[in-house]
Amino acid sequence: MTHLPSPPPQPPENALVDFVKKTPWLSLSAALATGYVLGRIAASVTGQGHAGHEKVVHLPGWAGQADLERGSIFFVGTATTIISYGGLSILTDPNFLHAGDHAHLGYGITSARRTDPAIEVEQLPPLDLCLLSHMHGDHWDHIAAAHLRKDLPIVTTRHAAASLRKQGFYNPQSLDTWQSIVITKGEVWLRITAMPGTHGPGPLGALLPPVMGSMLEWGSGDEPPRFRLYISGDTLVGKHLHGIPRRFPNVDLAMLHLGGTQLFGILLTMDAKQGLQAIRIIQPRAVLPIHYNDYTVFKSPVEDFLHAVEASGLDVDLHYLRHGESFTFRVPTPITSS
Ligand SMILES: [Zn+2]
Ligand SMILES: [Zn+2]
Repeated sequence: MTHLPSPPPQPPENALVDFVKKTPWLSLSAALATGYVLGRIAASVTGQGHAGHEKVVHLPGWAGQADLERGSIFFVGTATTIISYGGLSILTDPNFLHAGDHAHLGYGITSARRTDPAIEVEQLPPLDLCLLSHMHGDHWDHIAAAHLRKDLPIVTTRHAAASLRKQGFYNPQSLDTWQSIVITKGEVWLRITAMPGTHGPGPLGALLPPVMGSMLEWGSGDEPPRFRLYISGDTLVGKHLHGIPRRFPNVDLAMLHLGGTQLFGILLTMDAKQGLQAIRIIQPRAVLPIHYNDYTVFKSPVEDFLHAVEASGLDVDLHYLRHGESFTFRVPTPITSS
């Protein structure tokens, strides 16, 4: 038996040209469909989805026998926390300046820090991702820029992502308001959706960095979310927050950026009164104030907020962390309907 040599492979371009010449309309439809499918696959693999599609980032590693019944939040200071839940370790708004250092707030304005971070940047545990609400010196500083690994996924605004890329970080994941990204690690998933926020009143907001709040929802496999955490970012209270409870009712915990930041007498972050209004709007089961007392521009002490919440009689679990303290939360196992 003789084997005929295989014909030389036809250049794919020629085959395609032939096909297109013979069936132009069919080819056009096929090309569009193929492009769409490839786009979706690319979106799921690389996380570079089209606007409106959910981005997906698969983290390497296994979350182990991920414990979805218990989680913790360690308070470093300012808005810097380490959220540990479902086998994922998330660093928020990394700020490792020390007392006496100045944070840059744009337009040459700085503010002195009054406190030290509870840990140094070198003491951070291994991180899965960073969540950055906006690009301000009390949320992202030169110490974070120098020490965090350059491939760390950083979920943030478009504005901050562009700045991070210039600093050599090559995995920022930017979100527009209401856009989501899903982070998976083993069976566990975390969906982060960008929430509306504004750093200044009215038109002044446009002169300050764009800010995003975040809604974090964790789950496993096909189940609905187990735990819903809202992080406000540096936002003022306003109508823009009203869409949040409509889309995301039953928030388990809200971390509110307070401090009542003032520049030239203008309020730029929630003070005690606005913090209380935020609770009334979002209606979380529990609340954890952060971003307070750390900088000279923070004019509303956290104690005012704690008293205001207690005096309000609102049905909310109020938690308060000093620097270096942890808040541990328990999440009931979902009841499966029979
Ligand atoms: Zn800010
Ligand atoms: Zn701030």
